[in-house]
Amino acid sequence: MTDTKTPETAAPTTTTPETATPTTATPETARDPLNGLVRPELLALADYNAGVSLEKMRAELGLDRVVKLDSNENPLSCSPAVGPAMQAVQDRIFRYPDREELRLRAALSRDLGVGPDRLAFTAGSEDLVSILFRMVLRPGDTVLTAVPAFGLYEICAQHASAHTQKVPFNTDWSFPVDALIAALADRPRVLVICSPCNPVGAAITLDDLDRLLRAASADTLVVLDEAYVEFMDDATRGQHFERLKAHDGPWMALRTFSKAYGLAGLRIGYGIAHHPALAAAVYKVRSPFNVSATALAGAEAAYGDQDHVAATRDFVAGERDRVAAALRAMGLDPAPSQGNFLFFDCRRPARAVADRLRAQGVLIKPWHEADYRTCARVTIGRAEDNDTFLATLKRVLAEDAL
Ligand code: PMP
Repeated sequence: MTDTKTPETAAPTTTTPETATPTTATPETARDPLNGLVRPELLALADYNAGVSLEKMRAELGLDRVVKLDSNENPLSCSPAVGPAMQAVQDRIFRYPDREELRLRAALSRDLGVGPDRLAFTAGSEDLVSILFRMVLRPGDTVLTAVPAFGLYEICAQHASAHTQKVPFNTDWSFPVDALIAALADRPRVLVICSPCNPVGAAITLDDLDRLLRAASADTLVVLDEAYVEFMDDATRGQHFERLKAHDGPWMALRTFSKAYGLAGLRIGYGIAHHPALAAAVYKVRSPFNVSATALAGAEAAYGDQDHVAATRDFVAGERDRVAAALRAMGLDPAPSQGNFLFFDCRRPARAVADRLRAQGVLIKPWHEADYRTCARVTIGRAEDNDTFLATLKRVLAEDAL
């Protein structure tokens, strides 16, 4: 994560506006390197909690092996077809990328059963959240979602001077559909349904999704964040999208190549819109070439290797069951998960548990939202990494001075 601290030591001369004469510079303006330019509500935002850099951790702990289970990446990496595909575009790298994303668009359009003009590609799906929110939110608007939630929804709402209404998950980790339906009566500008939900892991039932869709007015954009859809079991995978397709009101489904496709470092995701006009609006707001030629080539190759996606899904499902059983045996019931991660209650401040794990080279994500600060999310990693996590957690909990 970048250090956003104000450089207290910045020399006053570097903060003087070009047009100001030296005599008009006051000590006050000299102290603020931004000269009040940035909207104060943005400066007040919390930093996005992006997980810890592996390199930094290795250096900090002096360890060769760091077990990184805090960012929901693919433990099997990406398809072997990705490297050569990216290599193959190197001799064309002086040209701008294909802004129409023609080949990937055609493949997805065919498989999803929507016109190619209903797809919009972005630099990861977080980019799409940011673009969508900037597109539709007016100051004072509301984004409605369930909590605990992916932190970016709130941050992007704040960028647009909108506020986030968070409805707590039910105690059995089912989606709080009744409360969400009640809140939909106020016609929030956006409803975000994240399914499988980061961090909980639970997927919304099809009936619950239908109920929410029926309750949403045409003034509410329904965003179905399906970053983890490829990890879902065969019985339900893809069905939520089919229900959404039948919904009359405005909607967008969000997908990414960062998770099951193993391309988090490449930055490419996409949205599927209810209508071409919504996809076209994304292209008006998006920076024109934000999906690089390499990302496009890598994503095409990864999408072409569905065997790798299936192998990832099977591997993750098996390890997820194993880790969940081990957590249960420690008395830490994880929520039911269809993602590549588990969310569990440590029954003590999760930050303290995560700090102790971190000191031993194991990274997990303690949750920071009020009412969930005893909970943590752990990514399903390779078998040996999961073993290390479980053994270290057991030791840490036995210390019990937390
Ligand atoms: N949505 C959810 C629910 C996520 O968990 C993430 C990443 N953690 C994203 C969107 C964004 O992923 P990316 O920008 O890498 O596509």
